[in-house]
Amino acid sequence: MNFFNEKLIIVANRLPFSVKKDLTFVKSPGGLVSGLETFLKKSNINNYTWIGWPGSHFDKKKFEIIKEKSKDINCYPVSVPAKLLDKFYNGFCNKTLWPLFHSFPSYVVYEETYWNSYVTVNQIFFEETVKHVDENSIVWIHDYHLMLLPSLLREKFPNIMLGFFLHIPFPPPEVFMQLPWRREILVGLLGCDLIGFHTYEYTTNFLRSLSRTLGIDHKMGDILYKNRLVKVDTFPMGIDFDLFFNACENENVKSILKTIQYQLKDKRIIFSVDRLDYTKGIYNRLLAFEDLLIRRPDLRGKVVLIMVVVPSREGVEHYQRMKKQLEEKISEINGKFGKIDWVPVLYYYRSLNFEELTAHYLACNAILVTPLKDGMNLIAKEFVASRKDLKGVIILSEFAGSAKELGEALIVNPNSISELSYAIEKAIEMPREEQKERLSIMQERLRRYDIVKWGQDFFNTLKYLIETKEKLNTKFLNEAIIHQIKEKFQRASNRILFLDYDGTLVAIVSKPSLAIPDREIKNLLEQISNLPNTDIVIISGRKKEDLVRWFSGIKVNFISEHGIFIKKYNSDWEPMVNISPDFKEPIRNIMEIYVDRLPQSFIEEKEFSIVFHYRNADPELASLRVAELIDELLILTGNMQANVLLGNKVVEVRPAGIDKGVAANIFLKEKNYDFILAIGDDITDEDLFRALPEEAITIKVGLGKSLAKYSAKSYKDVRKLLKNLVE
Ligand code: UDP
Repeated sequence: MNFFNEKLIIVANRLPFSVKKDLTFVKSPGGLVSGLETFLKKSNINNYTWIGWPGSHFDKKKFEIIKEKSKDINCYPVSVPAKLLDKFYNGFCNKTLWPLFHSFPSYVVYEETYWNSYVTVNQIFFEETVKHVDENSIVWIHDYHLMLLPSLLREKFPNIMLGFFLHIPFPPPEVFMQLPWRREILVGLLGCDLIGFHTYEYTTNFLRSLSRTLGIDHKMGDILYKNRLVKVDTFPMGIDFDLFFNACENENVKSILKTIQYQLKDKRIIFSVDRLDYTKGIYNRLLAFEDLLIRRPDLRGKVVLIMVVVPSREGVEHYQRMKKQLEEKISEINGKFGKIDWVPVLYYYRSLNFEELTAHYLACNAILVTPLKDGMNLIAKEFVASRKDLKGVIILSEFAGSAKELGEALIVNPNSISELSYAIEKAIEMPREEQKERLSIMQERLRRYDIVKWGQDFFNTLKYLIETKEKLNTKFLNEAIIHQIKEKFQRASNRILFLDYDGTLVAIVSKPSLAIPDREIKNLLEQISNLPNTDIVIISGRKKEDLVRWFSGIKVNFISEHGIFIKKYNSDWEPMVNISPDFKEPIRNIMEIYVDRLPQSFIEEKEFSIVFHYRNADPELASLRVAELIDELLILTGNMQANVLLGNKVVEVRPAGIDKGVAANIFLKEKNYDFILAIGDDITDEDLFRALPEEAITIKVGLGKSLAKYSAKSYKDVRKLLKNLVE
């Protein structure tokens, strides 16, 4: 299936192969490369270029040869000077971002020079990527090495489809915010149309960090950033299910399996395979295995732990120390418990190829996948998929992303040695029926959401997003729409403009009392109001006094408190309700309790309505408290003539039966207007849009569903339109 025609540009730190010193190409290790390759192949995507680093530094002449050779396999190498690369890769990527994003803050090194190299390498990748991109390209950037690239590309190509996927965890905001360059990283990522994470937890962490660091809110993962829609969503990476499921039929696999079974014929086998990394929790596995041998002497001689540790990041000192520590522990266990015919831990410091790896998956009774933190962990999924025989048990850390999909594994907290030790015991003694039941449920899930589904899901979301954006763009006030509105305005003989105030004529600010109209907007309104046959109605939730004070001397009409009072120019205020303002008293009592419970919230009292403001409060606590407050208010107002209204960071209680639409109609009944314009930004303006006649021009400011015909990105667009009307 080829589900798009545009050219796909993949940008990742590594190419799908590494180039050796003799210029031979060997496949790069790791899940990212094999996953993406499988996705491209199985989805029949041939029109792509993969941009990345070839794995070593080469002189100019050799690099040109590599470039030529890479073309045949749709690849394009990026050259990074060796010195820069060390500070970038071993430095910022693996000593700063890696430990921080895996929530190991005490391992993080903060170095200005590391950061500078990260900026430079992202710039180098940008310069190389632009050589391949045009306005119709789809660019898919991968992983934590290139988080500044999206914004660099967006600046140059405002309209390309741009996706990013993070293959590691995104930490909780309290950890992420320790990074001195947290703003730059977030702004870098916001250049995308779509940002994908492995789990809902990482998605939420990202959205929370965005809110805390940049004050940017979202609606169901949709963000309006610099007038663009950015979506944040979860796509758990799958594996090539069929490849692993059918591995047991492969002749080489069968033969390796036979050898292992022969060598360890009467032993129960526990298998462990990981890159050498402190996040993988390898040392704890040894402690747990040791604990088991102490607790259950009867198992001595009957159980072996095959521990494969794959060399990784040998340029980072921490990793070298870890290797030494592991090897010492293995020697200690083997020395303490081993016998002439039994070595408890069989240790290999090397990587396994596909056949060796799957043979081990098939040979073991249990596999230990117990990282302290892991973005996804594909080993877990691969093991489950490989066991076509429905035998074997997986012991899986609750802190691996894959635990979210593999709930039938023996889920453990890898920080507890005894929990691990008892899990191993349970695994090697688990009845066949139970093993079968657990594995078959997990296999079905992995079969359905495999690597192809993962990639397709990502691109379908990206495409849907672009379509939504295009639809939205046709509604956005552009030059042509403004021109049409102006023509109608000029032709009309009786014109009326209903203009909401906060968020529509002026920006939303942290305190309502600070949102005073500036000279520009006052001048504009004055000019429009001086045109013949033109009425302006400021239709706001504000109090009477504010409106009169701010716009004194300008020939405008007012609707205040969302329709409760009307003031025609040169007349007095008229109330539209017939109840006593005392109804607010019990409501005030409840709201006051919530002001105490939610720091930075406050009450604004108007004559006939009362408003709870929480714009400045902590967004997470606010979402909790406001839900509780609304619940209480709904119960209280159940038999009152009052409505509870959830606005833009406000909860308002006001008399029932009155809204902006009802109030606007009082003006419309008085004259025969042939030009009606209404502009507003929040839920109270929807009442207005609903109540106006079909021919009215209605404009919603900001993102979100609306009955309005058009949308404006911000109050600035509204001013632009108003300026056009008087020019
Ligand atoms: N792998 C391999 N040989 C080995 C060990 C691992 O080919 O000896 C592969 C394994 O099949 C998996 C990937 O490396 O696809 C490891 O991915 P995972 O998500 O488990 O960990 P990461 O290395 O990305 O942290």
